Amino acid sequence: MATPVTPRTCGGCIACCKALEVFEGNFRKAAGEWCPHCAVGRGCGIYRDRPLVCEAFRCEWLKGWGGENERPDRTKVIPDFHKEGLFLDGILQMWEVAEGALERPFARRTTREVLSRGIVVAHLRLSGKKFLFVPPGDALPDEVLKALKEERIELAIL
Ligand code: SF4
Ligand code: SF4
Repeated sequence: MATPVTPRTCGGCIACCKALEVFEGNFRKAAGEWCPHCAVGRGCGIYRDRPLVCEAFRCEWLKGWGGENERPDRTKVIPDFHKEGLFLDGILQMWEVAEGALERPFARRTTREVLSRGIVVAHLRLSGKKFLFVPPGDALPDEVLKALKEERIELAIL
């Protein structure tokens, strides 16, 4: 989805060290909780030995999507696009970093824009609740509806 325009670095952002689940080897960090290795202002305390999943993760902002001022620590939402899975055109996962951020104008505007391109959007709230938004006119096949139910993902509209 994202085309890098200018190379970006995470800078002072550590949003994914809170929002995302990390599960690798003996180390497990739940989604929505600060990682015990993360120190505000200093970043990852085990940077050289951090889990591969941490090393590999690049949010869409880091890849070049959105404005400079839309870094996830500012918007409190992490955009994370996946092409694989149940949705052939991909899915934009939006991870909430601070309570209520997915209700704010940035998240609502982004959700509408992405839906208008025919791409499904998932809101992953800090509370653990998950909501799926489907482009207007799209109908989900039964196997997808079944998978959503199993994953406790609720269908929603803006
Ligand atoms: S959310 Fe994006 S910009 Fe922020 S630390 Fe993670 S990968 Fe970097
Ligand atoms: S191990 Fe490091 S990079 Fe990974 S979530 Fe924790 S603080 Fe962040």
